[in-house]
Amino acid sequence: MELKKYVRTVEDYPIEGISFKDITTLLKEPTAFKDVVDQISEYCQGKGITKIVSLESRGFIVGGAVAYCVNAGFVPIRKKGKLPSLVINESYELEYGVDSIEMHVDALTEDDVVLIHDDLLATGGTALAALNLVKQMNVKKIYFSFICDLTFIQTEKKIELANYETHSVIQY
Ligand code: AMP
Repeated sequence: MELKKYVRTVEDYPIEGISFKDITTLLKEPTAFKDVVDQISEYCQGKGITKIVSLESRGFIVGGAVAYCVNAGFVPIRKKGKLPSLVINESYELEYGVDSIEMHVDALTEDDVVLIHDDLLATGGTALAALNLVKQMNVKKIYFSFICDLTFIQTEKKIELANYETHSVIQY
């Protein structure tokens, strides 16, 4: 299935100059949504993944479905101040702005094999911040998955992420 056609591009959102990839138009199509979840679940096969770590909020949608499909646990990474218990924190740069994300300190153990999932990889700042949180837990192994990868954006952060096995469903 050609999935790219289901992603809507909204120019100048949320600020001028950003070409926003809107996945809601993909998620509302049952077969497209299922295809994305199936492809990422397939990527997980044979890796012994025990936890899907996803980023608020668009990462939660497919990340949760994949966790269910591969019998893994789900761990949310949320924006600062949203998680109720003890957290570790990481600040990072977005394609548009600066932000801070958090994960519960007891979310992962050294026995976990982790897939970090988000809807989209742009500059790699968010993914790298998530990686820095997960690395603090000394987990066995870390993989990445994204629905969309903006491959035309090349950054130092993406070079660092290239050390980890990564799957993206749609490339731009
Ligand atoms: P980055 O940290 O630059 O890799 O940006 C990735 C994060 O920001 C993801 O959580 C995306 O949801 C969001 N994001 C950044 N750029 C875009 C874009 N062009 N379209 C949709 N989402 C984006």
